[in-house]
Amino acid sequence: MKKKLGLLYGGKSAEHHVSLQTALAVINALEHDKFDIHPIYIAENGEWIKGPLLNGKVESVTSLQFSHGEALPPTALAPTLFQAEQSEGSFDVIFPLLHGPNGEDGTVQGLLELLNLPYVGNGVLASSAGMDKVIMKNIFAQAGLPQVNYVWFIRSEWEHNREKAYGVVEEELGYPCFVKPANLGSSVGISKCSNREELEGAFKEAFQFDRKIIIEQGIEAREIELGVLGNDKPQCSVAGEIIPKVEFYDYKAKYEDGNTALIIPAEIAEDEYAMLQELALRAFKALDCSGLVRADFFLTKDGQAYINEVNTMPGFTPFSMFPLLWKHTGVDYPQLIERLVELGLERHEEKQ
Ligand code: ADP
Ligand code: MG
Ligand code: MG
Repeated sequence: MKKKLGLLYGGKSAEHHVSLQTALAVINALEHDKFDIHPIYIAENGEWIKGPLLNGKVESVTSLQFSHGEALPPTALAPTLFQAEQSEGSFDVIFPLLHGPNGEDGTVQGLLELLNLPYVGNGVLASSAGMDKVIMKNIFAQAGLPQVNYVWFIRSEWEHNREKAYGVVEEELGYPCFVKPANLGSSVGISKCSNREELEGAFKEAFQFDRKIIIEQGIEAREIELGVLGNDKPQCSVAGEIIPKVEFYDYKAKYEDGNTALIIPAEIAEDEYAMLQELALRAFKALDCSGLVRADFFLTKDGQAYINEVNTMPGFTPFSMFPLLWKHTGVDYPQLIERLVELGLERHEEKQ
């Protein structure tokens, strides 16, 4: 029996275009004799559109063309899914291939929980805690995971007394520091600052994307990432290294210029790998993750590891780090997708 899979993609987020690439890749890779795929597109304005499959090539976002079916206002979605249940048979599983706010942050997961539909990836709590860098870091701190120092502000605090906010950053962290919107990904709105003038610009920029921002001590380190896959007994992939050829791993380096080298497996010592694995699994457990995460670390020259973040729905094209890490670990792209579906179904059953 084919599984009826609802593929949610797009999303009302600055990472909308990343999701388009991912969705197309997943559609191409899913075994069509095992899955009956029903794409549901979420437009940038938040409109939900049920319709035909995306087509195009997974090379760049701009090469995508897609045709859509019937548009549904967001509030019509839930009844629509229910209707599908009555008339055409229920979805067996939903794959929310969404990055960033309104998708990777627990909102869509909450809707799916209410609809009692099994879905791929992290649940409500891990998704929302993982999306907010401040909450995530607070949880990691409580779990004793090593991190760089950070401070955070909400917009109104900063508007009330800007000098004070800059002073706190300079006193507690110094330069260089990184200013980031608390709830985003793909490096959107992130700046590296080396002085007060840059700090002021960076605050303005980051607050355009979020009412809450985080500022971290800048660190000189290698960037090493590990994939984690599983539910109660998660496993780690090999480690990979990112070598951006720009100042830091910004949006352009991630998706546009193709100039970033991904080195898999990363050339790190056995004991460093063992340490990172242990930290990745502790991070997974601390956030109560399920399905998957990509755990991202900084590794300094003297072998000190700091967790930077986890991504609860990491970039997922066949050329993205997470699938490549698993490929090198012995799980190819179609197998990985199937495994994720199984894990989603397993979690749903265990909850019942
Ligand atoms: P996102 O969730 O958007 O990927 P990150 O926190 O991973 O945001 O930051 C994006 C990139 O910025 C990192 O991959 C790294 O290159 C750089 N970066 C972020 N924080 C720091 C830091 N504290 N020190 C040095 N580089 C950093
Ligand atoms: Mg991220
Ligand atoms: Mg990152």
